[in-house]
Amino acid sequence: MPFDIVTIEQNPTPQVLTQPAQEVSFPLSQDNQKLITEMKAMVLKLNGVGLAAPQIGIAKQIIVYHISEDAKQLRQDATETVPVTVLINPHYAPTSDAQFTYDWEGCFSVTKTTGKVPRYNKIQVTAFDSEGNQIKLTACGFTARVLQHEIDHIRGILITHRLTADCVQGDPKDMMALRMKEFTPTQKAIAEKIIAERNQNIAKGSQNDS
Ligand code: ZN
Repeated sequence: MPFDIVTIEQNPTPQVLTQPAQEVSFPLSQDNQKLITEMKAMVLKLNGVGLAAPQIGIAKQIIVYHISEDAKQLRQDATETVPVTVLINPHYAPTSDAQFTYDWEGCFSVTKTTGKVPRYNKIQVTAFDSEGNQIKLTACGFTARVLQHEIDHIRGILITHRLTADCVQGDPKDMMALRMKEFTPTQKAIAEKIIAERNQNIAKGSQNDS
């Protein structure tokens, strides 16, 4: 992978993770087009549900997200699969009937903490596609959660900022053990498959890089 994930645990702390990113202008530059292509490939390789440009050290308002059938199966409030999709200069706001829900979230840029993060269960999103067309969508449940997580990255907000003292949180290994207990046997098998594939792809990636 030409780009590496930056993490909040790096020293010095990458400012790009905690500062607002820059708006992107249209038509997209070649560099931005390449960046989007690479981010789409990365979210698949990492077996993630989302990736924001600041996570690879680039302070631009670009996110990609992807809800696979496997990812959907792991979430009670997931209602849809979503193909790999890019959103540029995205914003979100809760709908008037939105409520907070807590569910597990991890982040490639936060390696030492995962937890049950409070998020709105329904949001309205405005953004642009690669051609500069405005997109307006209403997202619910898990899709809303993924979009809030990724759009937060654009604002310099991480899960560690959203996790309040009352949230279940801790070391990712301990939290995964807790989460595994909540899964049905089918979900557990899917989760183990996702983790194994992710580790395999990361190992392949570093072989290519070296
Ligand atoms: Zn993240």
